[in-house]
Amino acid sequence: MRWQIILGILIVSLAMSACAVPDESAADGRLQVVATTGQIADAVQNIGGDVVNLTNLLGPGIDPHTYVATEGDLAVFQSADVIFYNGLHLEAQLERVLEQIGNNGDVTVRAVGEVIDPQALLGWEPEQGFPYDPHIWNDVLLWRQAVEVVRDTLIEADPGNSAVYSRNATAYLSELDALHTYIGAQVATIPSERRVLVTAHDAFGYFGQAYGFDVQAVQGISTEAEAGAADIQALANIIITQQVPAIFIESTISPRTIEAVQEAVRAGGHEVQLGGELFSDALGAPGSAAETYIGMMRHNIDTIVAALAATS
Ligand SMILES: [Zn+2]
Repeated sequence: MRWQIILGILIVSLAMSACAVPDESAADGRLQVVATTGQIADAVQNIGGDVVNLTNLLGPGIDPHTYVATEGDLAVFQSADVIFYNGLHLEAQLERVLEQIGNNGDVTVRAVGEVIDPQALLGWEPEQGFPYDPHIWNDVLLWRQAVEVVRDTLIEADPGNSAVYSRNATAYLSELDALHTYIGAQVATIPSERRVLVTAHDAFGYFGQAYGFDVQAVQGISTEAEAGAADIQALANIIITQQVPAIFIESTISPRTIEAVQEAVRAGGHEVQLGGELFSDALGAPGSAAETYIGMMRHNIDTIVAALAATS
């Protein structure tokens, strides 16, 4: 019920803001682009460079599953030429508003995850209306397809700069190919029986499929539902049985969940290390190694290798 009220307020304020917000694109002259996640914003930055004016909605540490738009966000949406979001129910509290803006027709609204080939997607809960796992950036080759959607959408919206977008995209895509190769080489240094990735929520399904990890999490694919004591104990049992050496906290989730798992393992007479922090759903802070998508993916695999490959 609560979200319906919030949504009602959002839609009303959206209608009101349509006349109150000046059209920035007219003043700036550049394509006004909004991206929800840092991963998408980074793709836009690499492809659009200086010819677009980019706003990134969800900064470091912000959980996209639970984020609710502010009135200021709605004004930003309204003044955009193009809005990119992940879709597939990642931005659960934003998707209705974004769909509505898209249907109004003045703004190009693109859910990058919903344009790529669904045969490449992992399942989620189709009976709940969420057929696919939204964490597509955690497989670099799958994310490549989303980057191509960004390129094609920018060219469509701003054909005068198509040569810039094409050239930048080609360079960025080859960097992604190199990233994919790097991750594969790093994974190869972990003994195969140690390739078990335990995190707080189930964000690494695509990562596991692409790079050969058994992925286990306390919470499900979304963080909208809380983890229970039974989930924590079940995971602790898996860690003990499989002798998993390390488990990982996530930048967008309180470490308490994973610390509770560590405690439960200890109560079972075993010891598991905290392997460090992974960036599952948001990039790292500006100036950190994980401030870009490529930096985030390198940080994650380097952290995983350091914790799992070491012999103890
Ligand atoms: Zn997630």
